[in-house]
Amino acid sequence: MTQHQLLLRLQDLDGQMARLDEQRQRNGLSAYEERLQRIQQDYARKSERSRVLQEFLAGSQLLELEKEISALEASTEKSQLGPLQQRKAELEDETLNGMLELEELEPQLPQLREALAEVEGELAEARPEEQERLDNLSMRLEAMARERSELTAQLPAEVIQAYAKTGRVDEVKQGRCRCRLEVPDHYLRQLRAGHAWVCNTCGSLLVQTLTP
Ligand SMILES: [Zn+2]
Repeated sequence: MTQHQLLLRLQDLDGQMARLDEQRQRNGLSAYEERLQRIQQDYARKSERSRVLQEFLAGSQLLELEKEISALEASTEKSQLGPLQQRKAELEDETLNGMLELEELEPQLPQLREALAEVEGELAEARPEEQERLDNLSMRLEAMARERSELTAQLPAEVIQAYAKTGRVDEVKQGRCRCRLEVPDHYLRQLRAGHAWVCNTCGSLLVQTLTP
């Protein structure tokens, strides 16, 4: 292969490797993991709320208030009766609302546990597939890296350096470099013969053409 062909292949290979590497960085399980997290949070929030409601409903605040009211009614100190009765009415409302909320909440918990188990199952199933995808990408990347080092071993050091610095290969256009410098005839002939040339003004790495 000429330097020209080697460089075009090198550039092509680097483009492919960058794409494969990008695919390798992507997490193929993120959709499952996000769903799992959402359900876990929902479950934690609702079971905590349910615990709080149950505790409130099991408490004896209302009972104690009623006792206090009867005691006051029996005594002569009736001035505090009004606020206590108002508190009792509020507590009765809270109790009723709590019961309704709990009634709505309770059946959701086993449903959420079921959904959790389902997503966990899906995730467990998807894991080996994801591993396979990653292994496959790694294998392809390794093979490309081997080819790449074979290619670079065939190119002169100054060409490799110029490529590493600019990360690209350019083509001669109307006998000129990208920087408009006119390429000397002698080098134009070498370019046509398949050699690469490094512009000593701008450091561009030039080949005859980029279309193989
Ligand atoms: Zn130049």
